[in-house]
Amino acid sequence: IMSTHDENCIFCKIINGDIPASKVFENEHVIAFLDISQVTKGHTLVIPKIHKQDVYELTPEMARNVFEVVPSIAKAIKKTYNPIGLNTLNNNGEKAGQSVFHYHMHLIPRYGEGDGFG
Ligand code: 5GP
Ligand code: ZN
Repeated sequence: IMSTHDENCIFCKIINGDIPASKVFENEHVIAFLDISQVTKGHTLVIPKIHKQDVYELTPEMARNVFEVVPSIAKAIKKTYNPIGLNTLNNNGEKAGQSVFHYHMHLIPRYGEGDGFG
C-alpha cells in the first residue's frame, strides 16, 4: 500500500525484502534487524512496517507495537551476547543524530571498557 511506504527509504526497502538485512524478529507490525554498522556487537534496530519519519509522526498504537517487542528482543540479545548493560534509544532529527528518516529504536548492548560507555 503506497501510503505506508516510501520508495526512497532504505528501511522500507528492508521491509519489502528489496535489500537484505540480518533479521532477528518479525511480526505483523514491526521488524528487528542487526545494524549494518554496529556500535557494539548485537546492535539491533526495531522499526514499524509503516513508514513514519520520527517520533512526532508515530501514532500511539505504532509506539506500542514497537515497544511491545523490545523486552523480548533485549532478553534475546542478553542471552546471545551476554552484555553487562543495554541502551534503548531513538534519535529524532538530524541534530539529534538521526540519519535514517524511518522511525527506529536502537538496542545497543554494552560490554564495559572500550565500547564508549566503559
Ligand atoms: P540513526 O542515526 O538514524 O539513529 O540510525 C540509523 C542506523 O541505521 C545507523 O546506526 C546505521 O548504521 C543503520 N543503517 C543505515 N543503513 C542501513 C542498512 O542499509 N541496513 C542496516 N541493517 N542498517 C542500516
Ligand atoms: Zn521507510
